[in-house]
Amino acid sequence: MTTQAASVIVPTLQERHSGTPARLGEIAAAAKSRVLENRTLPTAQPRKRSVRLPPGVSLEKFEEAVKELKGALGAENVEVNDQPLVDGWYMEHPNTHDAFHITDQEELVSSATIYPGSTEEVQSTVRWANKFGIPVYPISIGRNLGYGGAAPRVPGAAVIDLGRRMHEIVNIDAENASCVVEPGVTYYKLYEEIQNRKLPLWVDTPDLGGGSVLGNAIDRGVGYTPYGDHFANHCGMEVVLPNGEVLRTGMGAMPGPNGADNPTWQSFQHAFGPSIDGIFSQSNFGIVTKMGFQLMPATEHQSYCFTFPKDEDFEQIVDLIRPLAQSRVLGNVPQLRQVIQELGVAGHRRADLHDGPGPLTQEEISAAASKLPLGDCTWIFYGCQYGPPESIKAQLDVIKAAFFQIPGAKFFLPSDLPPDHYLSDRALVCSGVPVLRDLDWLNWEPNGAHLFFSPIAPTRGKDARKVHEIVAAAHKRYGFNLFPTLCVAGREIHYITNIIYDRADPEAKVRAIKLMREMITECAALGFGEYRTHLLFADQVASTYNWNNSALMTFNETLKDALDPNGILAPGRNGIWPKQFRGKGWELGADAIDLTSIGPRK
Ligand code: ADP
Repeated sequence: MTTQAASVIVPTLQERHSGTPARLGEIAAAAKSRVLENRTLPTAQPRKRSVRLPPGVSLEKFEEAVKELKGALGAENVEVNDQPLVDGWYMEHPNTHDAFHITDQEELVSSATIYPGSTEEVQSTVRWANKFGIPVYPISIGRNLGYGGAAPRVPGAAVIDLGRRMHEIVNIDAENASCVVEPGVTYYKLYEEIQNRKLPLWVDTPDLGGGSVLGNAIDRGVGYTPYGDHFANHCGMEVVLPNGEVLRTGMGAMPGPNGADNPTWQSFQHAFGPSIDGIFSQSNFGIVTKMGFQLMPATEHQSYCFTFPKDEDFEQIVDLIRPLAQSRVLGNVPQLRQVIQELGVAGHRRADLHDGPGPLTQEEISAAASKLPLGDCTWIFYGCQYGPPESIKAQLDVIKAAFFQIPGAKFFLPSDLPPDHYLSDRALVCSGVPVLRDLDWLNWEPNGAHLFFSPIAPTRGKDARKVHEIVAAAHKRYGFNLFPTLCVAGREIHYITNIIYDRADPEAKVRAIKLMREMITECAALGFGEYRTHLLFADQVASTYNWNNSALMTFNETLKDALDPNGILAPGRNGIWPKQFRGKGWELGADAIDLTSIGPRK
């Protein structure tokens, strides 16, 4: 079954594990047609080069390895990556390369894609990788766009696409308000299942709901209900280690009666002994095949936004948020954005608002924003309060009293704005309903792609201002408009900015790379580091966490060499290289601007 609107077809959740739920079919079709309209690149082009082989592996050896794995998993579950590369779009993303390539499309590519169907088949795949010395790179869904998508860090590694055949919701425990999922369960899928079962539970979702619940959590992604710290709200993992052994963390390490899962697996995260769960997040120490999550019981809620007129209001906004967040008056992790994002989410294109190359000027932004429902302003705060109506009213009174100290601040409820305003989508996301809205801003540029820059700042006006100034000045230097989204908690801010570039423009890509590299260096000089980054910037970011002669990286490398002596699992992910790769030209530091040849090529 397919959903069709304006003759554009999108895959549905019934026909594909990563597909679109029926309720979003028309929205998806419309979003896809806007992406297609804005594309000048052909869907696919003939490959310039043949299959990118794993490093150090001959074609003959590779073919022998593929044949053996096909024998073990079934021929249809191992695909050699030799077809033209298709970038697709969010709901039809590739698992062969980085759809948002920041270098040549054919550079960050796999040699093959493997589809295991069970934890045992993941174990067999890992043993096969050890036998043939082929690096493997696990993905759950592979929609980590802006951070590398589905691509492996080492070109020619084999991608293990876990989601295609391992997408079962293993359990939903309504009393404990928890679930256990396999890698291929998306936010959409989990949400639809909870609705089908009519359970009063929420799924905390990121801005877009097509990602893997498990994959996002182990990459330490965030969402916007009170359960927005995804890794913090996980409870129990099943992990295949690089040597093929399998372990369970937390209470799951104790067998349940008669071979059942432990009944407290999703009740208590830490169990007994060292808490090792963290080492499987943002790492290359294991492949997570099952993961538990605690789910928020549904409650009443009220989304709202404030606008603030001046850029100089920024410090005061941050300093007002801090006590409100620390004392938990603020219900979730609110977002602070700039008014240019109102233009982006409404699907405006740079070229429609600005003549010639270069970013919009401040005057152009103000003129365009003044025609939008929130009017001209500089900062927009999106929040949500939870609980019974009387309690929400009391909370909002406190929040308004704080923010109205800023001259010119305005307050809006969704009912004050047109129904298609972005605030209505925030209201869904903030109450656990995964949406498909945050795509249109990509159309800012033709063939639009983006890179995330995500430093952490303390929730203190003067520190947040320092990061903002570095980022704003660097964007100006390299001719990009700035699209910051700040997720502001009580003590820290995830300052997340999107660098939007045209995939067909090699010059814009080089500017984006320089911009990233300089922002990483300049922020680190003041002690501000990234919480997450694109694959090709991971070495540089990791090298900024170098206190006491890089003691942290030495520790990670010690773990890596002990757990993965043959260095087969996701070499280079998060800057952690196994000993076979270290110091051999794979690391990409602050001076690596030309990314057109990553690592030794055979
Ligand atoms: P999403 O589609 O949810 O954005 P991905 O599946 O792309 O997430 O996962 C994000 C990143 O996390 C991947 O690039 C990979 O490095 C890592 N990852 C994802 N799933 C697993 C897993 N099951 N085990 C180990 N690492 C994983």
